[in-house]
Amino acid sequence: MGKVVVISNQKGGVGKTTTCVNLAASIAAANKKVLLVDIDPQGNATTASGVDKFDLAHTIQNVLTDKMPVRDVIISKEQTSGGYDLLPSNGDVASCEVTLINEIAREQILNNALNQVKNDYDYIFIDCPPSLSLLTVNGMCAADSVIVPMQCEFFALEGLTDLIAIIGKLSQAVNPRLKIDGILRTMYDNRNKLGSEVSNQLRTYFGDKLYRTVIPRNVKLAEAPSFGKPAYYYDRKSLGSKAYLALAGEILKREERDQQRAAAV
Ligand code: ATP
Ligand code: MG
Repeated sequence: MGKVVVISNQKGGVGKTTTCVNLAASIAAANKKVLLVDIDPQGNATTASGVDKFDLAHTIQNVLTDKMPVRDVIISKEQTSGGYDLLPSNGDVASCEVTLINEIAREQILNNALNQVKNDYDYIFIDCPPSLSLLTVNGMCAADSVIVPMQCEFFALEGLTDLIAIIGKLSQAVNPRLKIDGILRTMYDNRNKLGSEVSNQLRTYFGDKLYRTVIPRNVKLAEAPSFGKPAYYYDRKSLGSKAYLALAGEILKREERDQQRAAAV
C-alpha cells in the first residue's frame, strides 16, 4: 500500500510546491509509482506538472464534493511532465472550503477518496495551500506523514511551533498514523549566517528528523515551473535538480531502514 506524504507549512512561499513536484519527479525517476495530489486552489503543482489548470475536465473538487471516483479524475503520467500521475486542482477547488463545512466527518473526505487508489502507488504526495484550512486538514488526515519545508529565517521557527501543535492535535483526535517525517531546509543560502544558526536550533529540537539534504536557492528551480516541468526534466544537471534527487535518496534510504527495523522486532 502506498505511503501518503503531505507537504505542509501554513506559511506562504516556503517551497511546498517546489518540493512536492520535484520530490515526486525524483522518486518516480527511481522507478516508484507516484501520485501527486494538488489540493491548493492556486493549482501551482498542476501547472508545474505541465498540465493547463484552465483546461481541466475535472479537478480534486469533483472528488471532494461530487464524490467522483478518483480514477476518473487522475491525469496519467503520460499526460504530465513529471513521470507521475496527477490529481489536479484549480480555482474551482476553493469552493470546497464552503461546501464541505456541513458534511459529516468533513476532515476525512480526502482520506476516504485516496483509499480507492492507495494500492496503485508506492508514494502519494499532497501539495497543500498556505493555510491551516479544511483542505489542509483533509491533507493531514489522509497522510501517514508530513514533510515541512521551511526557510531558515527567524520567524520561521515561530510558525513551526504552531504547525507542530496542530499536527499533534490531529494525530490525537483524528489521525493516529500521522507523524512528522522530516523538516526540510529550502532556498538555503550558505553565505547567510542566520541559516547556520537556525539550522543548529532545528537540529537541537528535531534531531535526525531534520533532513541532511539541504535545498539551495537555485534559479533553475524557480524557472522550471514556467516551462511546466520539474527541474529533473528541465535541467537535470542543475544544483536544484541534484538536491531533490539527493532528498529522494535520503527518504528512500530512511524508509528501507525503518522497514528493516520493523521486520527485526
Ligand atoms: P504557496 O504557499 O504560495 O503555495 P509554496 O510554499 O508552495 O508557496 P513555492 O511556490 O514552491 O512555495 O515557492 C515560492 C517561490 O520560490 C516560487 O516562485 C518558486 O519558484 C521559488 N522557489 C522555491 N524553491 C526555490 C529554490 N530552492 N530556489 C529558488 N527559488 C525557489
Ligand atoms: Mg504552493
